Amino acid sequence: MQLTSRVVAKVDKYALLHNYNKVKSLARSSKVLAMVKGNGYGHGIVNIASSLPQADGFAVATLQEAFVLREYGIKQPIALTSGFINKEELLCVEKLGLDVFLHAPEQVRILEQSDLSSDIRVWLYVDTGMHKLGFHPSEVAELYSRLSALPFVKSSIHLMTHFACADYDSAKTNKQIEVFEGATSGYDCPKSMANSAAIIDYPLTHKDWVRPGIMLYGVSPKSGVTGQQLGLEPVMRLSSFLISIKNIKKGESVGYHSLWTAPKDSTIGIVSIGYGDGYPWSAPNGTPFWLNGHICPTVGRVSMDYIAIDLSAVSSPVVGSEVVIWGPELPVERVASIVGLSPYYLVTSVGSRSSHYTSENNIFEKQS
Ligand SMILES: *Cc1c(COP(=O)(O)O)cnc(C)c1O
Repeated sequence: MQLTSRVVAKVDKYALLHNYNKVKSLARSSKVLAMVKGNGYGHGIVNIASSLPQADGFAVATLQEAFVLREYGIKQPIALTSGFINKEELLCVEKLGLDVFLHAPEQVRILEQSDLSSDIRVWLYVDTGMHKLGFHPSEVAELYSRLSALPFVKSSIHLMTHFACADYDSAKTNKQIEVFEGATSGYDCPKSMANSAAIIDYPLTHKDWVRPGIMLYGVSPKSGVTGQQLGLEPVMRLSSFLISIKNIKKGESVGYHSLWTAPKDSTIGIVSIGYGDGYPWSAPNGTPFWLNGHICPTVGRVSMDYIAIDLSAVSSPVVGSEVVIWGPELPVERVASIVGLSPYYLVTSVGSRSSHYTSENNIFEKQS
């Protein structure tokens, strides 16, 4: 039985490759650790990793994600950004042949108490000012020598840090760069600093490895500008369709809590996407949808499965018409700024319903 999908996220492999090449053109001599955590920022982790055979490695946040990639047959290095939390997880890391980001003293102790039979590569996470993960810069020397003493730690320990505000605060970012340089300049080993915003704006941070996330997906890391304006191409095209059209009279209201009342006789359409599909519940009246070349604003509260849009701009709407939620026709950055959420959050939230992927003509579809 062929069921119609309510929501389709098309993932454009050519756009992904275009964005990957953009990263390479900005950071020519750096290796690329492609960030595919968060299920490939909502795009499907296998879709993304299998489409980037040229990436030097991938980074995931959970062992489950690493497992899925290895099961699929991904051979490149895979780094676990959270590292491991106990001995059992360390054994999984060894079994899956993962790199680990080391950010907490407990992890170093667990390593020192283990006797691994295969080598693992560690990325020593230096906290240069984000104060989320990582070690104080003054601890680098001691940790470096303790880790070097372990027989199963692959030589050339990698040193890395992560920026808190590379997308908008140059004073803070320059300070983090200075702190990292101060803590690591004495070590002749691979280094990594740059996320997407730093790849674009801070060439000095490119170092041996860059770690692009959001820009690979064609989305801007900086607010006030779209990925397209930065020369990127949107990878995700999220669409749904109209399941009902109705005429309502001036003064009638739509949806839960009657948050929108028609200022004039209106035609509205019901689109089969809601917060159960990852669409933000908080989207206000007026959030844009795209239908056949026209922008149609939402009216009323987003419900679990549906949202109403004003079809006034469309001359003869029909049930079944495709509606684009975001994609090349309607930048996710624009939707995000109206909803007051980050575009990272919007794309990553897609597909909380059970979903599957298909591959045809190099276009992958994620359906829910
Ligand atoms: C998510 C992440 C990145 C990528 O950040 P973007 O802003 O999406 O490019 C880089 N490094 C680390 C450690 C991360 O967790």
